[in-house]
Amino acid sequence: MSLIRRASPLAALMLTLSAAAPLPAAAAPALTPAVLTEARALRERARSDDTAYELVRSLTTEVGPRLAGTPGDAAAVAWAIRTLKSLGFQNVRAEPVTVPRWVRGEARAEIVAPWPQPLVATSLGGSVGTPVGGIEAEVVPITTFDDLKSMPRERVEGRIVFFTFRMERSRDGAGYGKAAEARGRGAAEAAKLGAVGMVMRSAGTSTSRTPHTGAQRWSDGIPPIPAMALSNPDADLLEQQLASGKPVRLRLASTARWDGEAESANVVGEIPGEGLADEIVLLGAHLDSWDLGTGAHDDATGVGIITAAVKLAAEARPRPKRTLRVVFFANEEFGLSGARAYAAAHANAIERHVLGMESDLGAFQPFGLTARVASDRLPLVRAMQSVVEPLGIEYLGTEASGGADLGSLRELGMPVLDIKTDAAPYFDLHHTANDTFDKVDPQLVRVNVAAFAAIAYLAAQAEGGFGRLPAVARLVGPASAR
Ligand SMILES: [Zn+2]
Repeated sequence: MSLIRRASPLAALMLTLSAAAPLPAAAAPALTPAVLTEARALRERARSDDTAYELVRSLTTEVGPRLAGTPGDAAAVAWAIRTLKSLGFQNVRAEPVTVPRWVRGEARAEIVAPWPQPLVATSLGGSVGTPVGGIEAEVVPITTFDDLKSMPRERVEGRIVFFTFRMERSRDGAGYGKAAEARGRGAAEAAKLGAVGMVMRSAGTSTSRTPHTGAQRWSDGIPPIPAMALSNPDADLLEQQLASGKPVRLRLASTARWDGEAESANVVGEIPGEGLADEIVLLGAHLDSWDLGTGAHDDATGVGIITAAVKLAAEARPRPKRTLRVVFFANEEFGLSGARAYAAAHANAIERHVLGMESDLGAFQPFGLTARVASDRLPLVRAMQSVVEPLGIEYLGTEASGGADLGSLRELGMPVLDIKTDAAPYFDLHHTANDTFDKVDPQLVRVNVAAFAAIAYLAAQAEGGFGRLPAVARLVGPASAR
């Protein structure tokens, strides 16, 4: 303390800098120089490889929308098995998952007073339909889901609740969780207060007339009401009419309905390791998608990125010691059915899951690596990060969640890493009709493959692994649904 106080400003600055400097890779003996050199070469090979981009093209072109329980979902499972086998993966299999089946049908929303106009709307996942001929009622605007709690019943009863909250666009996608609150539970809570319908501003940042769908949740015992999302420009229009102070009336018509359950599957494939084949490095993405677009960024790119990353890592020498396993999870979008089924089926092998990573934020510029591993393994993570730093990936701390599909495995103690990518453009497309292949940039796909391939390879080689998560580190804050 006293030394620093007496030192010159320059010396103090140098002390600060050296204290903040990252640990050199040499401080992590878990990785040999040969492995680090090969990981860098693998990273560069991946930057000129279009395996992932071609997989995205194939899945979006030949299968397209693949909402859980639909014929597209079954076609995606068949596509995945065929594709993994053709790429040389072993132990390729479909592990059965039961999924709910919901039928979107047709949705119409229109302002009937004071100035009649049609609106562009889509039903929220799991919404019931309206009676034939639709419903008509006065609109009551409410900003956020929380604001609904303080609304007196007489302001809501017999009306259509309109959630107006607008999602903020940001690199970390933090605005999505808040915007999706009304989508998840808004209709159920409005129904408790006697509302006859619910519309919301889309939980996305697109300025196109492309409404954003997504799942909602119902508590038992409340008769469901129809729920729709309006595109951002249509929500603006409705707000403009409300701003006149005149009563605004909406008519909603929808043929959405539930249709029981269906059989789907998690698709698993692996490249067995050499030496530590019993230990698994798991790379996950989800195979299902919403039905409005072709699920290009959500999550065909994830499927392509992890598959290509494992294929390229398997070709590296020295060969990966641990088994590299890809899991294409069923029904992430509509209840995480595949994630739960995988965790239940593999709980007795959880100790063999050395590390998990997920790609489910599209193929955009990566900027960070976060970790959730045993604390004494952080120097290893820093050494791994140094290999992907030339891709623009900084070390950003210990707040990794593993993503939606790996949450159940993390809660069982599996360490996870997150590669963070720019979420701002993602939420312009996510869950809308605009999530299509033309929005996928091959260059950004390659950068993501390079990051996943290098990290997965290093994870498969690292001596001593990543430890286990202590109970206190297994839970993260409210997981943002993807
Ligand atoms: Zn997703």
